[in-house]
Amino acid sequence: MAKQARQLKSFDIIVLGAGIVGVCTALHLRRLGLEVALVDRGHPGEEASFGNAGIVQCNGFTPHAIPLRPLELLGIALGQSSAVSFDFGTLVRLLPWLRRYHAASIGRGAETYSRVIAPLRAFAVQDHLDIAEATLADRFYRKGGWLHLYRSEAGYQKSETEHHYARVFGVSYDELTPAELNTLEPGLNANSARAVHWTQSCSVSNPGAVVDAFWRGFVQDGGSYIRADARKLEPQRGGWSLEGELGSIFAPQAVVALGAWSADLLSALGEDYPLVAKRGYHMHFQPRQGVSLSRPVVDVENGFALTPTENGIRLTTGVELAERDAPPNPKIVKLAKRRAGEIFPLGRALEEEPWMGSRPCLPDSLPAVGPSPTIPGLWLNFGHAHDGFTLGPVTGRLLAEQIAGKGPVLDISGLAPARFFD
Ligand SMILES: Cc1cc2nc3c(=O)[nH]c(=O)nc-3n(C[C@H](O)[C@H](O)[C@H](O)COP(=O)(O)OP(=O)(O)OC[C@H]3O[C@@H](n4cnc5c(N)ncnc54)[C@H](O)[C@@H]3O)c2cc1C
Repeated sequence: MAKQARQLKSFDIIVLGAGIVGVCTALHLRRLGLEVALVDRGHPGEEASFGNAGIVQCNGFTPHAIPLRPLELLGIALGQSSAVSFDFGTLVRLLPWLRRYHAASIGRGAETYSRVIAPLRAFAVQDHLDIAEATLADRFYRKGGWLHLYRSEAGYQKSETEHHYARVFGVSYDELTPAELNTLEPGLNANSARAVHWTQSCSVSNPGAVVDAFWRGFVQDGGSYIRADARKLEPQRGGWSLEGELGSIFAPQAVVALGAWSADLLSALGEDYPLVAKRGYHMHFQPRQGVSLSRPVVDVENGFALTPTENGIRLTTGVELAERDAPPNPKIVKLAKRRAGEIFPLGRALEEEPWMGSRPCLPDSLPAVGPSPTIPGLWLNFGHAHDGFTLGPVTGRLLAEQIAGKGPVLDISGLAPARFFD
């Protein structure tokens, strides 16, 4: 019997990757009237967008520091830091990248970061709530901001630049005395030297469920969801084709929103991006003695967060620099749990194994959003590092407006992928 020809379905655009970034890009493109195929190899929102701390943050004007001083490196090598960890081999492999990262975290690099990121953060909460209300995900959101804890005065002093920019960009925060902290979060051990309450931010009780609801909203709006391996994307005359589980699709344009996997595809297409996976872990715990939290708390010097979620208190860890696909390192969660137990009474673990995911990070800590500099018909939206949950709705909207020729309301030239090809 002759083999039946596989059907070819045409769209205006294919969005590759259904994390928060891809789902929000697809949703906004659909709102602008385009026929959109959203592609993922699995269910939407099951990678980094699933396991994060769920903070939608209005602040964050300085890149996350990665220490490079010899003494600090020694502490990391000895496994003493719960904020950053890497082994010697990784340090050697990533040294050129770490130098670029460091240069972009200080002086003029840091100033550029704050100037580019501030307008995006200004829209973050509103853009989340806009989609959340339309997709009935608003039940997962809570107001009340989030907390930064500092165990030492020296640690607090290091955050002065962040506070300076918050004042410059009009983002309010409250410095709390131990008594005020105790009133706000009675479950926390209030002996920390300092606490700062970022009042304008919000957070969610289940990041994965939020992405799932956004995705359902996209499908209800007439968007198509297709299971396929994005690495099978092929350039065709006038566009792109992709073999999915149920047949082939074609579109004149495509968006790469594959998070920590974006550089794999782009490299195969001839564009190399310095994308590194900053891995992180989470585990849920029962609060002890019925004590809970009302908002996420980040222990700045120790790099972990405690977030109240639908599934218990979620402990998320700091940064592990390692190969994206290397086996998990169980010591990282153990150390974070020990440090977290010093400030909050964690009860029994609610899972056997921790979850692990990858923050996709470029050396200037900013995402790449805009047209590919060398490949016609290809758009990029990846590299959101520590802020993808916060910024997915904003960069999704801005890129969709750019693609649809509506002219984004913000100047996003600072995010242009072309900055890596000067
Ligand atoms: C521990 C931790 C805590 C964090 N806390 C916060 C926080 O509180 N607030 C915040 O704003 N951000 C936070 N982040 C960062 C945030 O989670 C990420 O920046 C964000 O989720 C990245 O979203 P994404 O859509 O780019 O990538 P992902 O969510 O990883 O999505 C990528 C998608 O691409 C798909 N894909 C990959 N390869 C293929 C392929 N070959 N074919 C088809 N599909 C493919 C994957 O299946 C996946 O669905 C945290 C991250 C971690 C790890």
